[in-house]
Amino acid sequence: MSRKTDVLIIGAGILGCFAAWALSRYKISTAVIEKEADVCTGISKANTGIIYQGYDQHPGSLKADLCRKASVSFPALCKELDVNYKKRGLLMLSFGPNADRVLEKKIRNAEVSNIPDVHLIGAEELYRLEPSLKKGVSHALFAENTFVVNPWELGIAAYENAKANGVSFYLNEEVLSIRKESGVFHIATNEQEFQAKRILCCGGLNSDALWELVNKPKIRLVPQAADYLVFDTDCGGLIRHVISVEPEEKGDGITIVPTCDGNLLLGPTRRELNGSFDGSTALAGLSELKEKGKWLLPDLPFDQMIRSFAGVRPNPFYLDQNGTITDKSLNDFVILEEDGFFDLIGVKTPGITCANELGQYITTRILASFASAPELKTDFDPVRKAIPKISDLLERAPEALMQLPPEYREIFCRCRNVSKGEILEAIRRGASTLDGIKRRTDAGMGRCQGGYCMEKILHLLSKELQTDIYKITKDGPGTEIIKES
Ligand SMILES: Cc1cc2nc3c(=O)[nH]c(=O)nc-3n(C[C@H](O)[C@H](O)[C@H](O)COP(=O)(O)OP(=O)(O)OC[C@H]3O[C@@H](n4cnc5c(N)ncnc54)[C@H](O)[C@@H]3O)c2cc1C
Repeated sequence: MSRKTDVLIIGAGILGCFAAWALSRYKISTAVIEKEADVCTGISKANTGIIYQGYDQHPGSLKADLCRKASVSFPALCKELDVNYKKRGLLMLSFGPNADRVLEKKIRNAEVSNIPDVHLIGAEELYRLEPSLKKGVSHALFAENTFVVNPWELGIAAYENAKANGVSFYLNEEVLSIRKESGVFHIATNEQEFQAKRILCCGGLNSDALWELVNKPKIRLVPQAADYLVFDTDCGGLIRHVISVEPEEKGDGITIVPTCDGNLLLGPTRRELNGSFDGSTALAGLSELKEKGKWLLPDLPFDQMIRSFAGVRPNPFYLDQNGTITDKSLNDFVILEEDGFFDLIGVKTPGITCANELGQYITTRILASFASAPELKTDFDPVRKAIPKISDLLERAPEALMQLPPEYREIFCRCRNVSKGEILEAIRRGASTLDGIKRRTDAGMGRCQGGYCMEKILHLLSKELQTDIYKITKDGPGTEIIKES
């Protein structure tokens, strides 16, 4: 027997979660299918986490419009979903006349697109703001309204509230085939069959292949890797703003981000892949980052480097009539739509920034495609509360700790002061892997990278999920931590 739903979303990355959240406000049924064990484990977990203002985007483009709206309303969104964020401001540096011209163009973009709080500053003001930076900057673009966020935290918040408002999520299920019969989509996963009136594909890197299950090829995604380095929170004070460099000659600049949690994030690189992306970093990429990091921030202490990771860009290119990739790449958000099948394809930067706006935008289009537009629910409850953070309470209101159950006073992760209570609550909310716990509580994010708490968390996961400890994974099947002897 097939499960019936009005809208079926493929993929629970940040875009799928926000689309589900937007749809959960209406009187329609929505189901989300995700092939991994958790939400936000694809492109959405490994990126720079910057909420941009849109001055990089072509005026009049959908990206520029959504970015502008997103950055203005971001604090309100985070308040609604109880998500931690920081207003950092971004300084884009120029070291010469070529880059100066690019910055001036971006300032003009901001003016034309009506983006507030973006202006040019001189070297004196720059070094007053950031004295540790390499000398020789000629000008900097100062985008004051730039925020940073943990992207998975934002996506998980939307997921939780969408779920609380009636959206059904099916994890560990992969969409394998789709056919359309008498106006209804029949979707087969590795577990079951669904029938849906509309499909919204938010399949990240697979969005082209999923589109082609029922439609003619139009766009091909070419993956490209990106490496990052993470520095311990002790280095967080070195800079206060997000710093990026507009290169004077051709090539890529570099970005350094003081993250929400106080770490420094260095990256990304741009690396061609020979084959598919497997999540690994490359030595050449990490060496490039070290070199550029030292150049830009001479005091950057490399003995405080705690981890590296890699992300992947879904670079979209148009196909010609023969299905061959052309050199025409997409610069704006492109939403494919054909006969009830919608596809958010090749959404690269700034997909985190625009996730909420894209969710609302695509929802409007999906609703408009029904013969009579579904109504808003009267019982939609927007309130979502984050898991209480002991590390915050210890700083702000230690007395409040005593109001919480005793397991909130038992510390599991010492680097980040994460309690057993937080981990239990993360499991209750759906975390089933070590990384799922990490993304929801920060346990294992600190200097020892889980060396101290991993074993305790493994045992707790095994007990709470009533699963053999050998079956507990880092982040889904194939990443089991302990080998059964
Ligand atoms: C290096 C890098 C840096 C970036 N930095 C920023 C930034 O600073 N600010 C910003 O705004 N944006 C940034 N972005 C962009 C942003 O990260 C992406 O736009 C966003 O994460 C895309 O989310 P998604 O939901 O489309 O993809 P994903 O997170 O990959 O989600 C797609 C999901 O679909 C699932 N799926 C695929 N196929 C199937 C199937 N057959 N069945 C079921 N499920 C399936 C996958 O498992 C996955 O979970 C960056 C991107 C990169 C690569």
